[in-house]
Amino acid sequence: MPLPASPARVLISDFDGTLTQNDFYQVFRDRYLKGDASDYWTAYRTGQMTHFDALRNIFAAAAPGEEALWSLTSQMHLEPELKGCLNQLHEHGWKVEIVSAGCRWYIDRLLNQAGVMLTVHANDGTVIDGRLVMERPAGSPYFSTENGIDKAGVVRHYQTAGATIAFAGDGYPDLEAALLTDSGLRFARGDLAQALGERGEPFRPFSRWRDVAQALAP
Ligand SMILES: [Mg+2]
Repeated sequence: MPLPASPARVLISDFDGTLTQNDFYQVFRDRYLKGDASDYWTAYRTGQMTHFDALRNIFAAAAPGEEALWSLTSQMHLEPELKGCLNQLHEHGWKVEIVSAGCRWYIDRLLNQAGVMLTVHANDGTVIDGRLVMERPAGSPYFSTENGIDKAGVVRHYQTAGATIAFAGDGYPDLEAALLTDSGLRFARGDLAQALGERGEPFRPFSRWRDVAQALAP
């Protein structure tokens, strides 16, 4: 049986802070943690803790229950025009895949609620005794100890297959993947925009995900 043809154009997108305005860990931290979370984040930023372990520890630090955890996701503000944007991108030949150093527990549910189906590469997660327990995705072909998912690995996979890659992100775990992407198709905001700027690397700024979709599929 022949292998399915590799898509010619792939938009690889971060989730938290890119497809949403706010990160899950930020709304979680603001609601349930005060000082402790910044310690984990500082340990990550100073190289003493992986990004994965910083997020895992933040999520493990409170046990508000599944319903309360799910209610937090309304404060993330998923792109409200996501479904229309995806239709527009598909019409222009773009496949979209999500790469996230966050957790599938809320990503899959938010996408499902929005009525869209996308390939998601993210960490696993389960609510146990009211606590979101995040696990590295042991079975993923893009496994990373640092972030759980090797976002740059997904970019390389499609580049090797000959696809044109666009990338959108907002955080430090997006930097390597963004640098692999042609600067004309490299969309950034937040910490990623700052990190690229510090390296003198050009990028296309965006404020919401619809901007990326409209740029690629006008
Ligand atoms: Mg992000």
